[in-house]
Amino acid sequence: ERVVNESAARCPAVTKDGVPIAVSINVAGLDELDRLDPAMCDGIGLVRTELLFADASAQPTEDVQYDVYRRLLNWAAGRPVIVRTVDAGGDKPIAGLTIDGESNPFLGVRGVRLSLLRPEPFRVQLRALARAAVHGPLKVMVPMVTVPGELDAVRSMFREEVQALRQAGTAAEVPALGMMIEVPAAAIAPELFASDFFSIGSNDLTQYVTAAGRDNDAVGALADPLNPAVLRLIENVVRYGERAGISTSLCGDAAADPRVLPHLLACGLRSISVGVASLGRVKAAIATIDLNA
Ligand code: PEP
Ligand code: MG
Repeated sequence: ERVVNESAARCPAVTKDGVPIAVSINVAGLDELDRLDPAMCDGIGLVRTELLFADASAQPTEDVQYDVYRRLLNWAAGRPVIVRTVDAGGDKPIAGLTIDGESNPFLGVRGVRLSLLRPEPFRVQLRALARAAVHGPLKVMVPMVTVPGELDAVRSMFREEVQALRQAGTAAEVPALGMMIEVPAAAIAPELFASDFFSIGSNDLTQYVTAAGRDNDAVGALADPLNPAVLRLIENVVRYGERAGISTSLCGDAAADPRVLPHLLACGLRSISVGVASLGRVKAAIATIDLNA
């Protein structure tokens, strides 16, 4: 995917009335960064790691993953890189990892629920991330967190793996650990979670708030991020983040939707992450938005 409107992508994103907006990119693999200038973004706001695990015959080893995470950091050249732990299940089945035959996969064992159910492959990913974290501003984000205990469990596992790595003489550290806000329970009560940062997943948040599947065109009109109930939850998270000093961004498709973006900024959001192809278009759209109007 190439950047459309590259001249706009080269400028920092500022609203018409002069408010700077951080714009990071969402990527699913290293190839999307080929020939892309990191100066066009404020970092990588979401690395979807499912692609790494898509080959059922061979799960990526710790070294293979470590290499990928390091290369992402190298590319970003000092800008933050937020890697999301594997978000399998729901709309992202992975043979040999996800559970077959669930009657309702979106409400089933997906994201962190699966990671905690199958801790061994998950710990491999945590070790690779902890080793990469030594080399730059790596942050790790956990998908589908519903209750505080899930994030706490991931933090404990991270600490255990870092300790084991160091005992074996390998450099490692626990990275900043944050969570996706994409389950209504988390969006309603974000203050319950011991999270270093938040990233709102508007795709899943919208489907769970409106009870309209993101994969079902027949109810596509209902799965609308402009539903005031969705916007109210987004604002709740952004305002809590401001009060608590917890940085909050949004990495769902709504950020790249010119219809929705002005409403997100009106909720107080000042950081978004969008697909590489949308970067220029989104920055150009931000320049037309007047937050005082
Ligand atoms: C989201 O749910 O908004 C999100 C960014 O994650 P994904 O689309 O990968 O579920
Ligand atoms: Mg999601």
